[in-house]
Amino acid sequence: MNDQSKMAPDRTSERTESESRKLLRRLRDTLATTGGGQDRLDRITHLIADSMGTEVCSIYLFRDAETLELCATEGLKPEAVHQTRMKLGEGLVGRVARTSMAVNTANAPAEKGFRFMPETGEEIYSSFLGVPIQRVGEKLGVLVVQSKTARGYSDDEIYALEVVAMVLAEMTELGAFTSDDPAFRANHRQPEMFRGSTGQEGAAEGHVWLHEPRVVVTNPVADDPLTEIERIRDAVGQLRVSIDDLLAAESLDKEQVQVLEAYRMFANSRGWLRRMEEDIQRGLSAEAAVEKEQSAARARLEQVPDSYLRERLSDLDDLSNRLLRILTGQGKDTGAEMPLNPVLVARNIGPAELLDYGRKLKGVVLEEGSVGSHAAIVARALAIPLVIHAARITQEALNGDQILVDGDQGIAHLRPEDSVARAFRDKIAMQAEAQKRYASLRTQPATAKCGTTVNLLMNAGLMADLPSLAGSGAEGVGLFRTELQFLIRNKMPKRAELASLYARVMDAAQGKRVAFRTLDIGSDKVLPYMKPNDEPNPAMGWRAIRVGLDKPGVLRMQVQALIRAANGRPLTVMFPFITELGEFQEARSHVLRELHREKSLGHTVPSSVEIGAMMETPSLAFAPKAFFELTDFVSIGGNDLKQFFFAADRENERVRRRYDTLNHSFLRFLEQIVERCRESNTKLSFCGEDAGRPIEALAFAAIGIPALSMRPASIGPVKSLIRQVSLQEVREVIKASREAGDESARKSLVNWLAERPAT
Ligand code: PEP
Ligand code: MG
Repeated sequence: MNDQSKMAPDRTSERTESESRKLLRRLRDTLATTGGGQDRLDRITHLIADSMGTEVCSIYLFRDAETLELCATEGLKPEAVHQTRMKLGEGLVGRVARTSMAVNTANAPAEKGFRFMPETGEEIYSSFLGVPIQRVGEKLGVLVVQSKTARGYSDDEIYALEVVAMVLAEMTELGAFTSDDPAFRANHRQPEMFRGSTGQEGAAEGHVWLHEPRVVVTNPVADDPLTEIERIRDAVGQLRVSIDDLLAAESLDKEQVQVLEAYRMFANSRGWLRRMEEDIQRGLSAEAAVEKEQSAARARLEQVPDSYLRERLSDLDDLSNRLLRILTGQGKDTGAEMPLNPVLVARNIGPAELLDYGRKLKGVVLEEGSVGSHAAIVARALAIPLVIHAARITQEALNGDQILVDGDQGIAHLRPEDSVARAFRDKIAMQAEAQKRYASLRTQPATAKCGTTVNLLMNAGLMADLPSLAGSGAEGVGLFRTELQFLIRNKMPKRAELASLYARVMDAAQGKRVAFRTLDIGSDKVLPYMKPNDEPNPAMGWRAIRVGLDKPGVLRMQVQALIRAANGRPLTVMFPFITELGEFQEARSHVLRELHREKSLGHTVPSSVEIGAMMETPSLAFAPKAFFELTDFVSIGGNDLKQFFFAADRENERVRRRYDTLNHSFLRFLEQIVERCRESNTKLSFCGEDAGRPIEALAFAAIGIPALSMRPASIGPVKSLIRQVSLQEVREVIKASREAGDESARKSLVNWLAERPAT
């Protein structure tokens, strides 16, 4: 008895294996014949019902992201084809689609959520087995078999149907079922809109360039399982070696080691290889078996609430991609030619890689990323529109697809309809027109109607930014973020390298003032070669000048590089994140000591040195008078200052836009800073992102901030608006709004601007 029960499953599985291989072969032959998409689908349902001995086989495909449509059936009423539709999650079919999990029941009408579809004649069928048709997490449809007799389907039958669904998914991907109905245009042909968030403003039209192109599997069915098993074992072997090699590399941080160890664990997991080998036994090719496992992992990923587990499962996803690349030989370099006006589409990208692409990119769309990520910093420095959080775009986009990037709204339109593309082009044309108008103001000062001139400066962080200095009409560089040179390398840059870069920056500025901010790392900016700190709240942790003062070696090296770069020219240095007088005194003393040392070594010292502080925490606004007297200037780092003022994390999408910069409480606070600087005759500027937003810029100038530093593209719009108004009147509008008890001055300012006579 025992022996028999041990033997039975093996025999069943052998039978099912050969059955499913036979079925797959018939399926492949059917698909290979000529004929339209509908014809193919009809023949497939017939073939599956026949092979599995069920009365019904139906294929439901997505017509849009929310709606499934019965596209072919054997057994249900033919009139229902293309008539019966259901929403994601509706009925048993909708449940399979929503959960990406099989539903297997002997008594379908008794199942929770069962929906009668009288038009299909379905009520007479009792048993139901539905499996998702999906490709690497991409939901394509549902494959269903039904029988009159109340029977549950065996694990092997479920398995066989899943394997068939997998092949159907591949064929759908390759456009095998393309029909005349535009809703069923082959996959990756439909227009799609991705709503993400703004990483960097701006608009661009171009063609998709995938950072990691999709692997295309063209042979889902294979005849010779032995060869396929050999291939997969070989590929997994190569994969294991490559992971070991990576792990042996030096300079890995804790997180990288963790990820690679998880990779190694999965790559060595017997279950993973065994499942893939079983799929191959059932008739799949090695590639299709990897994808089937990958799809299953993605489906599990969607169900897991625990973020740690989700990450581990996504490691498995990455691993599958590597394995596919080994099997297909489709590496990153697929030999494809970069399209005209490339728009980079990626899950995420490192700053150095993005910088390698450089300015040839028209735009960047990422699935992940954050506003303060290194990639976002580089995109900002390169002035390339960037959309982040565009979920699933790497699965949808194909190299060469047309794409519109709307950085202002945080939206990407993939393969847009003509009308959308036309409207978008109008918007780009209008912006270009406006830029032309701004260009004509380039040599004009930002003098308001009341006679006050605002000093407009630009923010920079790359050598590549400097050509914009002349073109933008900026009076100088109000903030040069020096951390990019540290972030894009995998080891600490040398003093001589930095000195030569800073010298080139000063050369390019042609005598205009450049305020170099010393290294601002920590928080979101983690150097690849520095041991990351596990801090509960990095934005309020060991960052910026706190790191500089605790590890003065780097600060001093940077200051030496700046002194040498100046080589007798004036030098401006400022420290990030100064919170109290003592910190400023200490940081300043490092500069003074280095000046002294350089002089004693016989090096040329700068003709003049300005040492300033960034005001990024509210505490500094209330510092002793001695601080304002000691510092040569104050630059308000509004991005940080605002996050601490409102206690709203600048990186957190849920709260970062919650409080208005023009909130009277914030304006009032800024006025106090203006006042304190006036009292001690200290130069003041504002260099956070808000300085580049025209209405904010007006308000800042009106309350007395004399210099605003922004990205180069904002200088034109800000200058143009300032020149059209009287700052005195703006001040009146703000005052009236405050007295009226408004929370924010924005509405009053917007209304006042709208009602102003056109100039
Ligand atoms: C700021 O905080 O406003 C600022 C300019 O610095 P960063 O954005 O680099 O933190
Ligand atoms: Mg800051």
